[in-house]
Amino acid sequence: MKINIPETDKKRIVIVGGGFAGLKLALKVARNKEYQVVLLDKNNYHQFQPLFYQVAMAGLEPSSIVFPLRKAFRKNQDVYIRVTEVKAVDTANKQLETSLGICNYDYLVLAIGADTNFFGNQKMAELAIPMKSVSEALFLRNRILSDFEKALSTTDYDERQGLMDIVVVGGGPTGVEVSGALAEMKRYVFPKDYPELNTDEIDIYLVQGAGQLLVGMSEQSSKKSLEFLTQLGVKVRLNTLVTDFDGEYVRMNDGETIRARKLIWAAGITGNKLKGMPDASLTHGNRIKVNRFNQVEGIEDVYAIGDIAYMEEDNYPKGHPQVAQVAMQQAQALAKNFQLRHQGKELIPFSYHDLGSMATIGRNRAVVDLPRFKFQGAFAWLVWMFVHLFQILGVKNKVFVFLNWVWNYLTYDQSLRLIIRPRVPRNGDVEVES
Ligand SMILES: Cc1cc2nc3c(=O)[nH]c(=O)nc-3n(C[C@H](O)[C@H](O)[C@H](O)COP(=O)(O)OP(=O)(O)OC[C@H]3O[C@@H](n4cnc5c(N)ncnc54)[C@H](O)[C@@H]3O)c2cc1C
Repeated sequence: MKINIPETDKKRIVIVGGGFAGLKLALKVARNKEYQVVLLDKNNYHQFQPLFYQVAMAGLEPSSIVFPLRKAFRKNQDVYIRVTEVKAVDTANKQLETSLGICNYDYLVLAIGADTNFFGNQKMAELAIPMKSVSEALFLRNRILSDFEKALSTTDYDERQGLMDIVVVGGGPTGVEVSGALAEMKRYVFPKDYPELNTDEIDIYLVQGAGQLLVGMSEQSSKKSLEFLTQLGVKVRLNTLVTDFDGEYVRMNDGETIRARKLIWAAGITGNKLKGMPDASLTHGNRIKVNRFNQVEGIEDVYAIGDIAYMEEDNYPKGHPQVAQVAMQQAQALAKNFQLRHQGKELIPFSYHDLGSMATIGRNRAVVDLPRFKFQGAFAWLVWMFVHLFQILGVKNKVFVFLNWVWNYLTYDQSLRLIIRPRVPRNGDVEVES
């Protein structure tokens, strides 16, 4: 069965993935009206991943950080959105196998992003909590809140510790931001919500394999983030690896064992795989090798952009960092090249312009590395908030997030901490609590 999309005289660009890269590309190409655009995503919304941790910490409602794909294209007639999972690609016949049927393309752009990398550890994949989608962030929120409810009726000290303590694995921006946010909840929120519990007993651990935090950032930022987290009471373990987790105890390679039911895994990502993509096109981290025009090497009319794409440049001999700026800049460059191709002009190779990187650790505590200078503290925190607010899609979302942050700043409180459980099917395969 063929997917129901009208065939026209225009060449069809099929974009798989409505994340930072795919959505930007679709918006740009649609504006020029030279091609028919088909955007396929398994969700009907775009997710703003940098703020997942605030959803997980009940600081923001999920609706503030997602944006419906259809709303983004209300004014575009020649854009066809289909909510479907792409299962395989047949590059010889230029078609995709999707859950809705077969979709043919003239040009295919893979913007399928990445997923959590558990490095082949099946046990970890089953028991640890990742944060790579808004549903995973909500799952974490439910687990934190449900475990605190359980802790209220647990008289055994060790068991209560297991319910309240949290281990975060991975000292990159996500791990640092989550640990900081948890430490602030321990300080400002939990004592008000759970006065019957001794919240001083809560321990937040951050376990990092390397000898420093925020490895991709400046030494200054990495040192300052450690200082900020330590001030907030986070127990940071550098040069340490988690070797085992059975859902109750976390074991580390230095011999330490922590009783904690929640292990948040923020230790790495791996490219989403698509059946039919030849192994030769994949490189480390399951990324797809592309040339400077984002064309997949050796496959005609197939492109990859964003986290899934691996492109080498003189300044980036090991590929670009997997961040939103790269995804958006590649989308913009590819849209321009589609236009140039339509006009029969020469294509322009992509060059990444690093605008800087940043991470927030908590109220008045952030680190910012700009190409020319670096700064940390309260001003960095304001810059972090401004940049993220600017990037969120939708005026309503910007207003809601801004109001939430102001409210949070003034009251030391966050949005409502509701435990909203998805319906559990009778076969019980959705875990909401155990
Ligand atoms: C918790 C977290 C925090 C982050 N913080 C920052 C930050 O502060 N700053 C920063 O620059 N970057 C940050 N990042 C990284 C940033 O979010 C990514 O670099 C960016 O999302 C990459 O964009 P993308 O379009 O390549 O992929 P994504 O945004 O991941 O989009 C991929 C899309 O493809 C869809 N998809 C995947 N497979 C299929 C399929 N088979 N069929 C249909 N649809 C499919 C997905 O549903 C998704 O919509 C963060 C990431 C995470 C997880």
